[in-house]
Amino acid sequence: MHWSAGIVGTGSCLTPAGRANRDKTQGKGIRGTDIMDSYNSFHVLQQQIREAAAILNLDSATVEFLSWPQREYRFTLPVRMDDGTFRIFHGYRVQHSFARGPAKGGIRFHPDETADTIRALAGWMTWKTAIVDLPLGGGKGGVICDPRQMSERELEAVSRAYVRAVARVIGLEQDVPAPDVYTNPQTMAWMMDEYETIRGRHQPGAFTDKPLQVGGTEGRRDATGRGGVISVREACRVRGIDPRGTFAIQGFGNAGQRVALLHKQILGGRLVAACDSRGGIVSEGGIDPKELVTYKLRTGSVVGFPGATPVDRDDILEAEVDVLYPAALENAINGDNVARVQARIICELANGPTTPEADVILFEKGIHVIPDLVASAGGVTVSYFEMVQDSSRFFWTEEEVHRRLDQRISTAYHSVQKAVREKHVHPRLAAMVVGVARVAQACKLRGWVS
Ligand code: GLU
Repeated sequence: MHWSAGIVGTGSCLTPAGRANRDKTQGKGIRGTDIMDSYNSFHVLQQQIREAAAILNLDSATVEFLSWPQREYRFTLPVRMDDGTFRIFHGYRVQHSFARGPAKGGIRFHPDETADTIRALAGWMTWKTAIVDLPLGGGKGGVICDPRQMSERELEAVSRAYVRAVARVIGLEQDVPAPDVYTNPQTMAWMMDEYETIRGRHQPGAFTDKPLQVGGTEGRRDATGRGGVISVREACRVRGIDPRGTFAIQGFGNAGQRVALLHKQILGGRLVAACDSRGGIVSEGGIDPKELVTYKLRTGSVVGFPGATPVDRDDILEAEVDVLYPAALENAINGDNVARVQARIICELANGPTTPEADVILFEKGIHVIPDLVASAGGVTVSYFEMVQDSSRFFWTEEEVHRRLDQRISTAYHSVQKAVREKHVHPRLAAMVVGVARVAQACKLRGWVS
């Protein structure tokens, strides 16, 4: 019943038969390329829902309902490349929940994307928006492509083709996309422009994290990082840790770069280790975040940063630091490396960076994990502020955005902490309990389940 979404663009929605096939794609990219790990994030999502539901005593119909996206779409995108040939890209949009409002979540451009990863990410957005108490649901989209191998014109063509495929099922009242891995405000500007052309009207709030000149908000660019740093500030208070200690960043993309600058600016502290997909660097004496960001933007990587020692990319997760920010992809901290993780606080800026097995071990080790559902919620929170400002056509100052963000993230952090204490569970499960309870309540009030 919840798979009733119609055919979109040149592709079709995934059907229940697609579920039976999912094991075939597990661990594989859609085009058969190996993904970097053997964890299926969608199975992880479903397991997390079952665990939260057991604590909340939810009935089996509610669990089944929450375990599947309400709607999902896949489509093929034909695009003319710079050399004149056509390439067919595969795109997805998954709308996990509309219970609390329109679906909300990013669009990724990544070569290893899978339908199940996007399903999981869409579900995590549902809990994330509920935990920060936004009147939104959860969604996520993706295109299997490698932006690092594509020209600006090709990226624009893929972005516009994507919108032509989904235009009928997104928009302010249905589903509002934003950037995610390897997409950015320019991608959103192209997408919004294509969408407005199709609709024949001004609709800036249909996409968020746009450039300021076309309806973006102050404070969106660094919102994810700022939200993470605010949650670390609260965690340091709770745990009695001096926030001016050491920190490390795994993944030096949008979120990683911003958090490097903001952690130092807001909390003080010394960046001692960082990595990106090409490798890692450490420097006990400290790395200047500003210089590292400039270096990364100039050379494309942190590797080779003057004065730092080169190390293996994955060593960064094992650095002995006060705060570790995983800011790359899913399943970075897992059964293989969790025993060697030594940070005192882990602030999950990436979505789903810790596997369920590792969650339990981190909890036993006494490491204070700020789960992604709180730690990375700054982005979607300010996206929501952007939607509100676009609708009223009245824009706030940067200070106002910061103030409201701080309040939302601090409140969310402490509501999860309260659930940790009351339910005696690890922080991710506590966050799930808070989020799932709110979504289940909305489903019940709507009369979808009892
Ligand atoms: N992609 C970001 C996230 O995963 C932001 C989503 C949004 O702003 O809608 O939270």
